[in-house]
Amino acid sequence: MSKTILPGTDESGYYEIRMESIGGLGANLAGKMLAQLGALYMGLNASSFSSYGSEKKGSPVRAFVRYMEKEGRILRSSPVYRPHLLVIFHEALIGKYPVFDGVSDRTTVVINTAERPESYRKRHQELSDCRIFCLDASGLAAQCSCRLNMVMMGAAAAASGFLDTEKLMELYRASIGERFPDQLAKNLQGLKKGYEAVREAVPDSFTDSGQVSYGVQGGINPFPGNTAVNDLSASREGFIPLFHPEKCIHCGLCDSTCPDMVFQFSETVENGKLTLHNEGPDYQYCKGCLRCVQICPVQALTTAQEGSDRQ
Ligand code: SF4
Ligand code: SF4
Repeated sequence: MSKTILPGTDESGYYEIRMESIGGLGANLAGKMLAQLGALYMGLNASSFSSYGSEKKGSPVRAFVRYMEKEGRILRSSPVYRPHLLVIFHEALIGKYPVFDGVSDRTTVVINTAERPESYRKRHQELSDCRIFCLDASGLAAQCSCRLNMVMMGAAAAASGFLDTEKLMELYRASIGERFPDQLAKNLQGLKKGYEAVREAVPDSFTDSGQVSYGVQGGINPFPGNTAVNDLSASREGFIPLFHPEKCIHCGLCDSTCPDMVFQFSETVENGKLTLHNEGPDYQYCKGCLRCVQICPVQALTTAQEGSDRQ
């Protein structure tokens, strides 16, 4: 099956996007759509989530998207600290919030502003080695009578060098476009405008590398991190609690400490009394916090690396 080659990844194989926005501008939806684009249309593994305080319009929102090529599994669910692509939905955030945290020479930055990249580079030393694209996305959204997030998604796709705008439009038509058909044409126009505004500034060599090919995937993601099978293993950071049944005194402290009821118990009759025996953790539900290891009084649980030791 054909697949997408990511243009750059970190040491764990992830390509990461962070969107800095304000509640109501649609960054959360944009993050979900970009993840769906990768997973359903471009042969990538993908995940996304957003972080917002009180869920009120007007408060800061951060949306995170993580991609990995198909051979890998996404085992990180933390916020994106070192983005490959940083998308600023509103320039009012700059200076008030640490929106440029974690940028480096590998970061491409897209800013909704009428200013030019050079003026940002001059004022913000941390951007000196970044690739910066500026577009007046608010103006374009007003021009098209569309949502700002559509313009920003188009811009992000162009700046990424690998996210496919035609496929993004197809996804939009098949999802939100179905529910709001009267908004379809305007929003697609906005997406295209955002793409073109950035695409004009991108050198051909950046996008026409000939590396990108893809096919429609469909179905659900069977790997950890989805919500279909409630598999929490994607939350782990490489370590698991290893159970040593021969040492266990079945005190149940691990069970009462574990936030996710991971431990499995069986009923046994001992000396004529019904008792519960700890059978160990069901790793599907274990997020690797290792509180159980700390609480166990007899070292029947120890910290181990995920992998060959996993039961
Ligand atoms: S805390 Fe330790 S000894 Fe107690 S049930 Fe859990 S594993 Fe067994
Ligand atoms: S590591 Fe955390 S989630 Fe996993 S079994 Fe222990 S307490 Fe529960």
